[in-house]
Amino acid sequence: MKTIKAELIAIGSELLGTSKIDTNSLFITKHLNELGIEVAYKTVVGDERLSLKKAFETALNRADIVISTGGLGPTEDDFTKDVVAELCGVNLVLNNDILEKLKERFAKRKIDFPENSKKMALIPENAIPIPNSPGAAPGVFLECNGKTIILLPGVPREMKYMIENFVVEKLNERYKLPKKFSISMNFASIPEAIIDNTLKEIEFEKQGITYAILASLRKVQVILSGYQKEKVEEFSKKVILKFPEAFFGYGDIFLENAVLELLIKQNKTVAFAESCTGGWLGKLITDIPGSSKAFLGGVVSYSNEAKINILNVPKETIEKFGAVSPQTAFYMANNVRKLFNSDFGIGITGVAGPSQSEKKPAGLVFIAACSKEKTVVKKYNFRGDREMVKQQSTSRALDLLRREFLK
Ligand code: ATP
Repeated sequence: MKTIKAELIAIGSELLGTSKIDTNSLFITKHLNELGIEVAYKTVVGDERLSLKKAFETALNRADIVISTGGLGPTEDDFTKDVVAELCGVNLVLNNDILEKLKERFAKRKIDFPENSKKMALIPENAIPIPNSPGAAPGVFLECNGKTIILLPGVPREMKYMIENFVVEKLNERYKLPKKFSISMNFASIPEAIIDNTLKEIEFEKQGITYAILASLRKVQVILSGYQKEKVEEFSKKVILKFPEAFFGYGDIFLENAVLELLIKQNKTVAFAESCTGGWLGKLITDIPGSSKAFLGGVVSYSNEAKINILNVPKETIEKFGAVSPQTAFYMANNVRKLFNSDFGIGITGVAGPSQSEKKPAGLVFIAACSKEKTVVKKYNFRGDREMVKQQSTSRALDLLRREFLK
């Protein structure tokens, strides 16, 4: 079967600067990949007519489907439709339905219809307008010399609406794509390279299955895809069996989701004592709706005084072993658990860096997780800058709780 190739063009001069990044293409790619369409090229281009024309020309020469975002608005620098109409040798025609809808939209808001907004109702001849419920400017779907061109707004919310409510179905219909099935699995506290090496041993390709590994400091995600659902399911089980301890769930979840779900299921509660992570762990868990069912609270005990006065870490422990020590982590976890009367406690203390502290190297972190009966303390030497050390600390803390107490 011939692979259908797409090119994405992100339009907007701000995307070429340092303050704004093209995230639209990630969302579009995810949906195209699910349809079995490969994104072969991505281009970012400013609001400049000639560059835009060149970008479309090049894309149409090397891809079957070209999807752009941006430049559909009413202003002078919005000329995506003009450029495409010119390249396809068609005129822009006024679509009265769209014009009426735009006028209604302005009337509802009691704003006079600005003359330049009429531009948004211009559509290349023979093109299909894509409804834009959350916004004003419609998208455009057109066939041009055997290629498909899709023009979407730059505003992420509007772009997403059109992809989900129009583009996916339309591409399915147009290319009669066999449905691809994917399963994504998440693993924690395991290096990407180990997973990659092991997966290479499983002969996926012979069974028509492809895999992708997306690794970050928070997790390693493995995505298996194929046209036969049963095969993908069978192989996903094989993958999990290779790393049963590290596997923490399916789909687009993170450790905090998995840990919270386990806590709620087991009717247990937790409290955190954070030093070098400065409350990050608390933020992660409270970002999830419903976290109050299991998370009772936390203490950001950054100074030694806070550790001593609020968390009752013995002064002598800090004097003898240091604030960054397994002993301090032990007391932080146990005493925060007592303070909040929770089932479990977590204590994190470490050197976030970049410089050393207590003559201990940056990246050295001790994490303790405890219940009333048991405490586990682990030592970690994380690499990377301050942010990376903090992030790895939160992931490992959640994973320690999961592995030792929630299985
Ligand atoms: P429209 O096509 O609706 O007129 P536009 O191209 O005029 O959209 P802009 O005004 O350039 O849209 O952008 C609208 C908002 O969307 C801005 O905040 C912009 O930074 C953001 N945006 C545009 N393109 C992208 C992109 N590729 N990824 C993420 N954000 C984007």
